[in-house]
Amino acid sequence: DFTVTLAKSGKDELGDLSNAIQLLADDLKYVKQERKEFLSSIAHELRTPLTFIKGYTDILYKRNLSEEDKKKYLAIIIEETNRLSHLIKDLFDLAKMDENAFVIEKERLDAKLFLGNIETKLSPAFQEKQINFYVHCEESITIIADSLRLEQVIINLLDNALKYCTVGDTAVVTAKCINQEIQIIIEDTGKGISKKDLPYIFDRLYRVEKSRARALGGSGLGLAIVKELVHAHDGEIKVHSEENRGTTFVLTFRGAGNNENIVTNR
Ligand code: ADP
Repeated sequence: DFTVTLAKSGKDELGDLSNAIQLLADDLKYVKQERKEFLSSIAHELRTPLTFIKGYTDILYKRNLSEEDKKKYLAIIIEETNRLSHLIKDLFDLAKMDENAFVIEKERLDAKLFLGNIETKLSPAFQEKQINFYVHCEESITIIADSLRLEQVIINLLDNALKYCTVGDTAVVTAKCINQEIQIIIEDTGKGISKKDLPYIFDRLYRVEKSRARALGGSGLGLAIVKELVHAHDGEIKVHSEENRGTTFVLTFRGAGNNENIVTNR
């Protein structure tokens, strides 16, 4: 009996081990495939602006151009160079986050002041595109966060609102405190995101309409970075969207609250 039990359990364990090895091999294959696809997308993203830069530099070097044409081509070179440096900065940020080498320096932020600064920075861009832009913030809310990183998150989301809204649309930022949780809501009445695309928008390099998003200056890394930064703050990000109606991002952060409720260790 003992021999039979031993042989049987040995067989079961071997079976479990071989299943586990198979699962690991599948995971590894998946990771390798993902890395391959990511690298090839990156190569493409880097090559496109370089092709423009090289093409227009050649023309400027070889041809006798009018002052007007020179300016036009130089403007394209500057735009594509900015796009490249933006993309490389985003890639560095993501690489640092992957290695956990990204330092989050939390401090106590007065939400009203903090969002007021962002409002001042972005209002001219919204005005220029004739998009209504409002910031509503409950009195006396303290957010515990890395101010630069949280600003990066909100500016990225508002940048998208700017890109995907047109004249007459509205973008609103609201901050409130519910049961010691801070919610920052960024909503817009822009073009929205289809049900089909919505599950993928936080993926690296995912863009709904590649050529359109590129024309608007997007790299497809913005929301991937936003998600990482929110998670680095132990926060949560959720999105609701409806095509042609608009998009709402809800950020939730724990461990903060109304100013008077905060226990400070200073
Ligand atoms: P991109 O740099 O292309 O904007 P993101 O990672 O920021 O990349 O966003 C991914 C995709 O999600 C975008 O290409 C866009 O289609 C969609 N998206 C993001 N924010 C919005 C928004 N506020 N309204 C409509 N679509 C959006």
